[in-house]
Amino acid sequence: MKIKSIDVVRKPLSLWGAFWDAQKHAPSATPLSRHDAYCHSLESWWWPQAQVLVRICTESGATGVGWAEDGTGASSGILDSHFRQLLIGQDARNIEKIWDILYRSSIPYGRRGAALMALSAVDIALWDLKGKVLGKPVYELLGGKVHDQLPAYASHLQPVAMEKFIEEAKAYVAEGYRGMKMRMPGSPRHGSEGVRMNLERVEAIRNAVGMDVDLMADAYMGWDFRFACQMVRELAPFRLGWIEEPLLPDEIDAYAELCTLSPVPVAHGENEATRWGFQNIIRRKAAHMLQPDVYRAGGISEVRKIAALAQAAGLEVVPHALGSPTLHVFSTLPNCRMVEVLTIPVWAKDQLSSQPPLFLGEPQPVNGHIQPSDSPGLGVKINPEVAPELSHW
Ligand SMILES: [Mg+2]
Repeated sequence: MKIKSIDVVRKPLSLWGAFWDAQKHAPSATPLSRHDAYCHSLESWWWPQAQVLVRICTESGATGVGWAEDGTGASSGILDSHFRQLLIGQDARNIEKIWDILYRSSIPYGRRGAALMALSAVDIALWDLKGKVLGKPVYELLGGKVHDQLPAYASHLQPVAMEKFIEEAKAYVAEGYRGMKMRMPGSPRHGSEGVRMNLERVEAIRNAVGMDVDLMADAYMGWDFRFACQMVRELAPFRLGWIEEPLLPDEIDAYAELCTLSPVPVAHGENEATRWGFQNIIRRKAAHMLQPDVYRAGGISEVRKIAALAQAAGLEVVPHALGSPTLHVFSTLPNCRMVEVLTIPVWAKDQLSSQPPLFLGEPQPVNGHIQPSDSPGLGVKINPEVAPELSHW
């Protein structure tokens, strides 16, 4: 089943759909909160949103589609100018071999980031292709489901005006979610006021939804070690499910120290990649739970390895973001308890929900639970309304 051609298309659409538009103006803590020019919103420093779509075709006419973030065109550039030549002529059934070739060949410029996004898109396309050829959903090829349906948590509550913020939290409970995650507004640039801003938000949600709903909080790399230490102590009474990305991804020693003293579980990993990157976090005891992203960490194949390492260390994996590749692989992982759903806030629904999705057939949460499609492969199709030029894919 030799690979005959690779189509690579850059679509200037966020991988997270309308969710991106809901969060880009919100005043959350970010890694750039310390810089005056970029402290007000993600949009002030983010690059133009885009995703790369990959179609792999074999000589026998089998096809598979994968995708990942493209950022500044880096992933599509890598696919076009390097990976394509390595893929042509390979047997599409040999997913592990192809992964190894692409990883080893891109080491000088790769190992994480855009090269791993490109590799993730290829890996996802190969699993889709294999499933379509065999007439089976991808989760079945991965050993079958551990979870018939996965609990989903609503993500995120953006720190907009308090009234809207509380309205959103209550709306998620009404929709059947038993868990939700909020973005933290306060960061070290606000001093002790930043701590108060964050606590006020957490307290408001707890008052609105009670203590039985799982509540998580995302600091999106916007804090430093000193601020994080103070925050986790103050957050203890609110029984958070986890505090997410309080520090920069490479501050592994600080993460390890925070893990030893924090009464709140510490989670991260959405910006890490490969078994080796996660092995480093696990060995150094620098997380209480791990959040690999199937589009960044190396695709479906690599997330399985990362999850196995985590399980051997007694750690849970909760995916970053969602989409059908994520659902297929995480439904087969015994150490996954729930998945993230990127929700559109109730206050933004009128403006944003009219945007049609890029993929048709993406599973939707029902009463706070979600499951992968039973159709062959990943079970999704490009929406011809959004990408008419790809309707033949
Ligand atoms: Mg996050």
